[in-house]
Amino acid sequence: MPKSASRTYRWCDGCRRSYHPDDCPTGNCPFCGLPTREMSKFEALARGFMANELTVSDIRGKHRQLIRLIWTKNGMGEQYYRVIRPDVPYSKFEARVTDLLMRGAEEGWVQFVFPPAPTDDESRYKVEFSDEERFVQELAALFDSSEQES
Ligand SMILES: [Zn+2]
Repeated sequence: MPKSASRTYRWCDGCRRSYHPDDCPTGNCPFCGLPTREMSKFEALARGFMANELTVSDIRGKHRQLIRLIWTKNGMGEQYYRVIRPDVPYSKFEARVTDLLMRGAEEGWVQFVFPPAPTDDESRYKVEFSDEERFVQELAALFDSSEQES
């Protein structure tokens, strides 16, 4: 059976929606970072219709994407991954930490600092911890539990 990439869509179980392959060059979901799987154009259409009500708003997805970019910049994501050595693939790790940081921002122990207008100066996009201890505890709770139950 001939396989044409242009006719294949990517489905994300996390977001319950499909993406055009151009939107996921790495194979991971552009919004939540989870691995996506291939599906035909028609499957994607059918699924997309069924999942319509569950589709995340675009603005929330973009905001989440920005948060992910900020905390992983300069190889920080990989560095965290190497130090923590979680029992999950990197993409999942990245998605979980992003979720944790989003909760932290909501609860007030993490702040994301943005410049007033978009800029190429990466250093102006920052993550700051008003309660670093809290972040360390949450991170440990997220990834350390299986190791500590011996
Ligand atoms: Zn997703």
